[in-house]
Amino acid sequence: MPEKLSDLGEFGFIRRITSGLPPHDAVIEGIGDDCAVVRAGETVLLVTSDAAVEEVHFSLSLAAPEDIGWRAATAAISDIAAMGGKPLCLTLSLALPAHTPVAVAEALFQGVRAATEAHDTAIAGGDTTQSRAHIYLDITVIGTPVSRYVVRRGAQEGDVLAVTGYPGRAAAGLYALQQGIDASQAPWRELIGAHLHPHARIREGQWLAAHAAVHAMMDVSDGLLQDAGHLADASGLGIHLHSGKIPVAAALEQARPQLESSPLELVLAGGEDYELLLALAPAEAETLCRQFEDEFGLPLTLIGECEGAWRGLQLDGTPTAPKGYDHFR
Ligand SMILES: [Mg+2]
Repeated sequence: MPEKLSDLGEFGFIRRITSGLPPHDAVIEGIGDDCAVVRAGETVLLVTSDAAVEEVHFSLSLAAPEDIGWRAATAAISDIAAMGGKPLCLTLSLALPAHTPVAVAEALFQGVRAATEAHDTAIAGGDTTQSRAHIYLDITVIGTPVSRYVVRRGAQEGDVLAVTGYPGRAAAGLYALQQGIDASQAPWRELIGAHLHPHARIREGQWLAAHAAVHAMMDVSDGLLQDAGHLADASGLGIHLHSGKIPVAAALEQARPQLESSPLELVLAGGEDYELLLALAPAEAETLCRQFEDEFGLPLTLIGECEGAWRGLQLDGTPTAPKGYDHFR
């Protein structure tokens, strides 16, 4: 049997195809972070691309085309937030079957446009092409650091791990849509809103990057456990998470009786809320959390520590596999 992508997994495949890439003067930080960091004359640019594929990332049976466009653009812009940058512009490549109603195609674009306006980003170009069966949106965002950019691999032994806001709500919102739960009632309104209409933490990322105590940062897009695993791997450390410290939104608790997974499981395995995950110098962590909450009215919660004696991920002292999204498994 020939080897299949499902044998390798998404991240194994990425490692395989990128392992022999030669260095290039233009590339300061290459593959493996939320954005590439690229030299452009005297200045530095952040570059990221993100694809959204019908029936993989979205379904027109579950979400309005405006919401699909919004989410695709926000997901891409969030990678600029993850570096502490400011988005400048994006390009959008759209592949659509010829039978797509014009109103649907226009609404997808309007959703992308609304997200760019909400995040002070221009639509600077793109491409349109026919697809045979499904809709594809491929978005490249270009941004620039404000004070400095923060990479994933900067975590240090003894750092504490922190997360913004309440991840897991978007996963519960998607579940509600799949189950046909009435979206107009609390707590589902909030949860479905988190799924359909996320915001990239641009201002928060810039604020955090301006603090030297922030050693590493990324956005949570694949799930808190999986992304914590990526941060641990990139930094060559172990990360120990404490389930009792992980923030669970009140809406998620209220939804518990109707959920298939526990609220905590949704927080650990759910991504796509586009919260930020960061490693902080321990001495300044408590103060920074307080200041962050004062500034943004949003919690910054300490959920674990970075350890030097071992690699990988532990939850409450037990080694754990980084559960989350893998495109080929
Ligand atoms: Mg990311």
